[in-house]
Amino acid sequence: MIVVLNNSEDERNLQRVIKLLNDKGFVTEIVRGTEKTIVGAVGDKSRLIDIPIESLEGVEKVIPILAPYKLASREFKPHDTVVQVGDLYIGSTEIIVMAGPCAVENREQLLESARIVKKSGAKILRGGAFKPRSSPYSFQGLEKKGLEYLALAREITGMPIITEVIDARSLEMALDYADIMQIGARNMQNYSLLQQVAQAGKPIVLKRGISASIEEWILAAEYILKEGNPNVILCERGIRTFETYTRNTLDLSAIPAIKQLTHLPIIVDPSHSTGKWRWVQPMALGAVASGADGLLIEVHPNPAEALCDGPQSLNAETFDKLMQSLAPVSRAVNRELII
Ligand code: PEP
Ligand code: MN
Repeated sequence: MIVVLNNSEDERNLQRVIKLLNDKGFVTEIVRGTEKTIVGAVGDKSRLIDIPIESLEGVEKVIPILAPYKLASREFKPHDTVVQVGDLYIGSTEIIVMAGPCAVENREQLLESARIVKKSGAKILRGGAFKPRSSPYSFQGLEKKGLEYLALAREITGMPIITEVIDARSLEMALDYADIMQIGARNMQNYSLLQQVAQAGKPIVLKRGISASIEEWILAAEYILKEGNPNVILCERGIRTFETYTRNTLDLSAIPAIKQLTHLPIIVDPSHSTGKWRWVQPMALGAVASGADGLLIEVHPNPAEALCDGPQSLNAETFDKLMQSLAPVSRAVNRELII
């Protein structure tokens, strides 16, 4: 860290700061300017947890050098994390597509969705049984019945399933069914839920919060890693900006940023980030070209009749087209799409 002191104040302030840092095991270097004095300090920041350096006399500001997260950082673990789900490896060279309806609506709808996405090369089936809807009057999900249909679809197709948990109750219920737990954008900063889901021990897809910075998002992942669960997959799903033409603004630059800052795999949800099915394919291609490890896509057998997110859902035909177009893009960035 860098500590900036104002020279107009007592020299003893500087000596006090240096002594305190040295006593805590920090190596310090002093640069004296005409108006300010800068102290560069290298050491274990956790030893200063109860000492607010900023509030010491003469200290103008403290600039941290290292990120506030540790376990998620590249410095801590230089090699990419690969999350295993059955015989799939997320974060390896293979692009993994997770697809299915926004919400599980009934048995037929889910089984038909599963058939469609599997046929076109999706490897994991998505489907919400607990829906965190903006309006309390909207369809809230089939809950346990929905989980049972997902399990049935897994039995029939062999595809692992990913489903969202929204609280302790849904987590408890989903434990017996889900292969991957999804934490939605609205719950990214629900830290007690993150801890509970982490303790369940299953792989977790952690969506980026609606207005979360990259740093806040990584810190949310840090909560999970700190519980001893290393299987975190980040999911960029668009953020809220001044632009309202699209449902959200897909932050493609988050992909290389996450790859540089962390060792965690990152997938992209082009459905919630655009809100319009026509833009799902171009954004999916852009995501894979930008280094994403996979995609999370909403597919419905009949989007016009979907109970949730129909306008952004692909049908059998448009999903198949997307998958076909994804293969050459994957190859171009030295990735593999097995369809
Ligand atoms: C979803 O994937 O069904 C969902 C609700 O997404 P998000 O949390 O990104 O809004
Ligand atoms: Mn949805």
